[in-house]
Amino acid sequence: MLNIILFGPPGAGKGTQSAKLIDKYAFTHLSTGDIFRSIKKSGSDLGKEVCSYMDKGNLVPDELTIRVLEAEVNMHIHPVGFIFDGFPRTAAQADALDKFLAGKEWKIDAMIALEVDDEELRKRLVLRGKDSGRADDIDPKTIENRIQVYKRDTAPLKNFYEAQGKYRGVNGVGSLDEIFHNICKVIDTL
Ligand code: AMP
Repeated sequence: MLNIILFGPPGAGKGTQSAKLIDKYAFTHLSTGDIFRSIKKSGSDLGKEVCSYMDKGNLVPDELTIRVLEAEVNMHIHPVGFIFDGFPRTAAQADALDKFLAGKEWKIDAMIALEVDDEELRKRLVLRGKDSGRADDIDPKTIENRIQVYKRDTAPLKNFYEAQGKYRGVNGVGSLDEIFHNICKVIDTL
């Protein structure tokens, strides 16, 4: 079993590269952003609560996020491995994930980080907003907030996984195939 965190700021290309990785390696893709978008769509009270954070570009509270993620993992009995996309995003989530996986005698094997500079991210998010119609990709203030939240709460997780010898940086700028090739090179060493 191989469990990988695909890490990087909003707009780094985590979703796109995850889709290519599940094709090649048959991993289970777990994107908390996708899960929250489907909860939001349901229009339930929980959906409204989630929406109030997402649409401003803020993080959904840890307790709820961890609960949702764990329930999703528990639905898979004999997984080949997971790609965690957009999770963990805080120190509390990283801690909870380690403990949760340890309880199943599983672990994270690597954090693969897509490294993309801020200017490129802003350009990509605006373009994506035009295509996808995602509320949090349209308003420049929301985009800026998501980048700042990433820097403040999420980027420091690099140190957490570096201390465990699991951090692997990959250049996230280039053609999709080039980036994919570089991610695969890392995975094939694991
Ligand atoms: P994403 O598609 O990964 O960019 O996530 C979209 C939005 O969902 C984020 O801006 C957050 O509001 C929420 N979200 C996704 N993953 C998490 C997480 N791990 N912790 C808290 N909020 C999250």
